[in-house]
Amino acid sequence: MAAGTVYPASEPTRWKYLDRIRTRPGPYTDESTFDGSVVAETMEKMSILVIGAGGLGCEILKNLALSGFKNIHVIDMDTIDISNLNRQFLFRQSDVGKSKAEVAAKFVMNRVKGVTITPHNCKIQDKDEDFYMQFQIVVCGLDSIEARRWINATLVNMVDEEMEDSLKPLIDGGTEGFKGQARVIYPTMTSCIECQLDMHAPRAAVPLCTLASIPRQPEHCIEWAHVIAWDQEKPFPQLDKDDPEHITWLYQKALLRAQEFNISGVTYSLTQGVVKNIIPAIAATNSVIAAACCNEAFKIASGCAPSLGWPENNYMMYSGNDSIYTYTFKHERKEDCPVCGNLARELIVDPEWTLGELVESFATRPEAQLKKPSIRAEKKTLYMQSPASLEEQTRPNLEKKLVGELGLGEGDEIGVTDPAFATVSFKFRLKFQKA
Ligand SMILES: [Zn+2]
Repeated sequence: MAAGTVYPASEPTRWKYLDRIRTRPGPYTDESTFDGSVVAETMEKMSILVIGAGGLGCEILKNLALSGFKNIHVIDMDTIDISNLNRQFLFRQSDVGKSKAEVAAKFVMNRVKGVTITPHNCKIQDKDEDFYMQFQIVVCGLDSIEARRWINATLVNMVDEEMEDSLKPLIDGGTEGFKGQARVIYPTMTSCIECQLDMHAPRAAVPLCTLASIPRQPEHCIEWAHVIAWDQEKPFPQLDKDDPEHITWLYQKALLRAQEFNISGVTYSLTQGVVKNIIPAIAATNSVIAAACCNEAFKIASGCAPSLGWPENNYMMYSGNDSIYTYTFKHERKEDCPVCGNLARELIVDPEWTLGELVESFATRPEAQLKKPSIRAEKKTLYMQSPASLEEQTRPNLEKKLVGELGLGEGDEIGVTDPAFATVSFKFRLKFQKA
């Protein structure tokens, strides 16, 4: 079948099985509010936003269109690259270089009659609250934690208790190799993405002693070749991770070491992946996670069954590394969450630190992960990243010690802002502890 062709005969029967689910009450429907005769119409009128039109986004758009949603918007700033074509199946070779959002929207509209998909070829940060207010549900298929944190903070900020419609359920899918997760957030009511930030902690580096003495995994052998053997033997003046000759050298070194320790699994492509820190995107993981996300959207829109997050379990994790495993649990809301909580979060700080050391530490702390933090104390500005004049004025503070020179004490509150989270000020309470 050529791309974009529709079998007309499939259309009348396309919704038959879907309607069996959405028009009848099930064991979990609330009899007092469920009215099966209006569900299809409600879903058709509903506006749903998909963020991301990549590996997950393509799946999500197709699934939503086939789940009875008729008014879908999609936002993505990327253009199609040839390397996307192995899994982002709404794109063809002739689409390379074009906008992902536009091509994906057109493809799905062509194949599923009666669906309108509006593409937005821009950054999510280019849209304001009025834009996000028009949707009833937001589904994220993103690969960036920054973008997730931004949309999460925006949706939490938009909640107005007087206006029921201002609360937009956020469905978030994510994959990394064979692993993935689907979660539902009811902003201000259930644990948000910022509450769950430690689930995205930067990957811990393997200790050097493991690499040097007792490697256990093929990755350890590759890291050994990369970190230790390369430095000792210096086969080329400078390691170029894109040069196949260099990667081959590392691969062969790693292979010898793996044989010595009876470890299997060192390959050229794994060497490339470890050295360049690449986690391959896997189409099957994307389709499992996208399906889970769209199931949640369908449950929320139709009321046919309780969604994740309502009221308890809100997080489903999936792993396909060794056979298939899923686990669904409740991630608790944090009272000291900088986005949805009210309390300042405890921040463990070495009393010997300078302000510069504190600023640097924000990037790597699993609970903060702020790359360009500006810091204020209760009474004065300590360090501002911008504008340039203020940066220059506050820069000398970076050299000063927190205690003494800057006059900070145990229990003091500091406010931290970061250009990636325009609307949010993170509140922290200092707790001193020697490093
Ligand atoms: Zn939160």
